[in-house]
Amino acid sequence: MDCQIRWWFKYGLKVPDPATANMALGRAVHSALGGNFAQKVDTREDLPIEGVVALFRDAWADEQEQTEFRDEEDPKELAVTGEALVTKYMDQIAPTIDPAAVEIHVYGEISGVRVRGWIDLLDVEGRVIDIKTAKARPSSIELMHKFQVATYAHVLPGASGQGRVDTLVKTKTPQVISQSFHITSEEMKVAETLYPAAQQAMRQQRYVPNRLSMMCSRRNCSYWRHCEREWGGEVPES
Ligand code: SF4
Repeated sequence: MDCQIRWWFKYGLKVPDPATANMALGRAVHSALGGNFAQKVDTREDLPIEGVVALFRDAWADEQEQTEFRDEEDPKELAVTGEALVTKYMDQIAPTIDPAAVEIHVYGEISGVRVRGWIDLLDVEGRVIDIKTAKARPSSIELMHKFQVATYAHVLPGASGQGRVDTLVKTKTPQVISQSFHITSEEMKVAETLYPAAQQAMRQQRYVPNRLSMMCSRRNCSYWRHCEREWGGEVPES
């Protein structure tokens, strides 16, 4: 839904998709916090913060090997940023989360279209919690998050239609912004209409680049060279 050509490069043409530094940092933070919540499902206790930072270091070491860094990106500086973000989240937010399940593979059917996905975190109240990293404070909830939560509410028994996005902001002093929302019946309808429309476009192989996407930049999309070569124009730096 975000960029059809990006999907086509990845899944249709199977062009290798080396992680950008932003993706790698986000994945390493996810992995460390996910490790904490996975054990908390059973123990009901968070790990000590230093333990979660150690999980981040291991994950970052793995991510670095597969990441295409841009010249001005320093993996050591990014590691310091990642550790600060993990520490902030563990200190401020993790103790308030009561996890029911972590990294859940969900699948089902919406308007005749088979869909599947992964939920990072579901709490005991059926709320889907998504943790992401960003360089600036979010001003509103991205439609993509609402769409994801509407999808899960359709296919996962126990998902309440409540969602929350916790954004770890990579400012000099790290911040965490929590935004809660509830999926309305109108928003449920969006998933019911968009999946068949997307399926139809895929079957007709009608793929168009979305240079207006918030994720369209050389820092966020590893296909930018392919995209410029094929479609012309210039993908923005960030
Ligand atoms: S560079 Fe932008 S338009 Fe091109 S594939 Fe990536 S996200 Fe899509």
